[in-house]
Amino acid sequence: MQKLLLLGAEAIAQGAIDGGMSGVYAYPGTPSTEITEYVQHYDLAKERNIHSQWSANEKTAMEAGLGMSYAGKRAMVCMKHVGLNVAADAFINSAITGSNGGLLVTVADDPSMHSSQNEQDSRYYGKFAQIPILEPASQQEAYDMAYFGFQLSEKFSIPVMIRITTRLAHSRAGVERKPLLDQNELILPSNPTQFVLLPSIARKQYKGLLNSFAGFIEDSEESPFNHYFEGTDKKLGIIACGLAYNYLMENYSETELTHPLLKIGQYPMPRAKVEKLMKECDEVLILEDGYPIIEELLKGYLGKEKVHGRLDGSLPRDGELNPNLIAKALKLASEEEVTEISEDVKDIVKNRPPAMCVGCGHIDAYNALNEALSDYGVGRVFSDIGCYTLGALPPYNAINSCVDMGASITMAKGAADAGLVPAVSVIGDSTFTHSGMTGLIDAVNESSPITVMISDNFTTGMTGGQDSAALGKIEDICKGIGVDPEHIIVFTPLKKNHDEMVAIMKKELAYKGVSVIIPRRQCIQTTKNVALNERIRELNLR
Ligand code: SF4
Repeated sequence: MQKLLLLGAEAIAQGAIDGGMSGVYAYPGTPSTEITEYVQHYDLAKERNIHSQWSANEKTAMEAGLGMSYAGKRAMVCMKHVGLNVAADAFINSAITGSNGGLLVTVADDPSMHSSQNEQDSRYYGKFAQIPILEPASQQEAYDMAYFGFQLSEKFSIPVMIRITTRLAHSRAGVERKPLLDQNELILPSNPTQFVLLPSIARKQYKGLLNSFAGFIEDSEESPFNHYFEGTDKKLGIIACGLAYNYLMENYSETELTHPLLKIGQYPMPRAKVEKLMKECDEVLILEDGYPIIEELLKGYLGKEKVHGRLDGSLPRDGELNPNLIAKALKLASEEEVTEISEDVKDIVKNRPPAMCVGCGHIDAYNALNEALSDYGVGRVFSDIGCYTLGALPPYNAINSCVDMGASITMAKGAADAGLVPAVSVIGDSTFTHSGMTGLIDAVNESSPITVMISDNFTTGMTGGQDSAALGKIEDICKGIGVDPEHIIVFTPLKKNHDEMVAIMKKELAYKGVSVIIPRRQCIQTTKNVALNERIRELNLR
């Protein structure tokens, strides 16, 4: 079979396509973006008419994926870990409705917060929803799990989560393909009430979910992704989950691992295999990239002393794992040796703090905003998530918050309610349609004295220039929500327009109601995007 050199994220996309997927639904977010982009740029996906347009946010993506599954086809929903917070309502309820066509929810976690606000572990969400979880240790497993994940989902009529982490999503390895499977035919659920979560039906469905759990464990026990490796040195047994298995084996490229090892790639945990390891080994070391979920489970409330990992300091409590940290936990390397290696790496890797591109329109908008706000003092700008969040750094020092997608308008409103007037929200065009619009409704309903700056660059800039659901619609949306058209003002953020921008901002900051100012200039990274430029011309946006 053909072998491809793929990123982990791409391997998931390829596995899903080969496994008979009919649609992927996603909102871009590092490190999950490349899954959908791969489908979008792949000829075979076009030939097979696989849906791959970006959704407005992760919740709408989850609901659309569930809709495709309802119609009997195989769908995948992709997001980064914090995106699952947005999709949580639909995600948890999808475990109660169950699925019809195979439904995969691929969530990319970011331990060490390379590009995120927190390092939450999505396995907790999978456990919370009580659905099976797959966690690949390699690009090949990422492919295999997407391919077989649909079959697992269809076997139990349940959504299946695939959990990956940044390191796997963004590193490349050879992947062997499997035979291309046909897509499902359109077929409605055999149970006509399955997707109707009225309380009486939901209670029945929930009992069904609970009754399926024994089957999930049984499947996990037999899963090719969970493997028990015998070992002669039973002083220590090791449980390695997902990518942590790789980090472990990097320490044994030249010597043999003699400890018994349980490699976990499918949850719920294979109980019999765990019991065997716990019984036959004096001590057990748990390696999991993320939270100490398994460690906590096995330690129990009373804290079994033979279980070691992140909770007892054998491994650091936070951040990404790596082979050196595991070497230290296994006493293959001392603290000094591990520090020495890290120092060596520091010397060869140049530190590149993130920065806005030279010439970006956000810079001109911030320079004007800083001047317009100088009469009022600092501490009044609530930002959202996008390239413009980098306005927090010097030399701009232009924003005072960055909490979650959509929080800027609602936080500005709350601060204004508290008496901080004027309060300013800064949000991008894509983030505005992701989850800013509902906050704007609240502000309009109470005529809150806030100034909302929607920085429109026609794209989702931070994740690499994906489609913005707001393209050409921002003024109409704001008018529809009820913002007074006299206080919806568009201008071009350019250095030469600085004085004009400052004057507009000062005027709107003094207004005692909701005003929206829209600095509009294309992200310079997308200027070569022919299709986007054509669309901008059609919409007469410049
Ligand atoms: S990618 Fe685009 S929006 Fe982001 S900083 Fe660069 S020019 Fe600005």
